[in-house]
Amino acid sequence: MMFDPLWLVFSIPGLLLGIYAQIRLSAAYGKYSQVGIESGLTGAEAAREILDQSGLKDVPVEEVEGRLTDHYDPAKRALFLSSANYQGRSLAAVGVAAHETGHALQQQAAYGPMKLRMAIVPVTQFASQAYSLVFLGSIFMLWARHFTLFSHLIWIAVGLFAVVTLFQIVTLPVEFDASRRAKEQLSRLGIVRDRESGAVREVLGAAALTYVAGMVSAVLNLLYLVSIARNRNS
Ligand SMILES: [Zn+2]
Repeated sequence: MMFDPLWLVFSIPGLLLGIYAQIRLSAAYGKYSQVGIESGLTGAEAAREILDQSGLKDVPVEEVEGRLTDHYDPAKRALFLSSANYQGRSLAAVGVAAHETGHALQQQAAYGPMKLRMAIVPVTQFASQAYSLVFLGSIFMLWARHFTLFSHLIWIAVGLFAVVTLFQIVTLPVEFDASRRAKEQLSRLGIVRDRESGAVREVLGAAALTYVAGMVSAVLNLLYLVSIARNRNS
């Protein structure tokens, strides 16, 4: 198979946006993990406060290893914070911790996009693994000059990758909404002062951009797959 310059056209924008998003996140997180929060709470204490004040006393806040491994597990109904954010008394630590409580609040409110995202997790895991195999298979068929089989396989690859892309698209409203809920709770409970809210917005905005980059990459990759599938069919 010859190198396809069209592939660059479809992959470079997502790649550049992804790199830009990572740089911005590292910069914002690095900067505001050095800035202490006036209320003096750790990320864990801030998360506990938000959960307790929202009627979620039964949702535990636990510490996990790794950098930015923070997440909310809707199946366990538990919040996990990386050590730096669990113990940190910085604007970045409290911002990230509050964002994760935003996901707990979404589950409590039966927020539609989150329910949809949870529902498609298993099929997405299957689709992303099957996609790699089917796509490799299609390239092999092209190399072996089995063009009919290639054509079938590449369209199956398109269908599987469409599922992965849908998941990336549904992730966006879920992530933006979690940050919105986080900022609302932080100011309502007085955990973050007005003059500190810009910093929290910067950290959460940078984190959200990484999800936008993932979505853009997926959509462009899907368009590229469709374009090669259509070309080989005509
Ligand atoms: Zn999130």
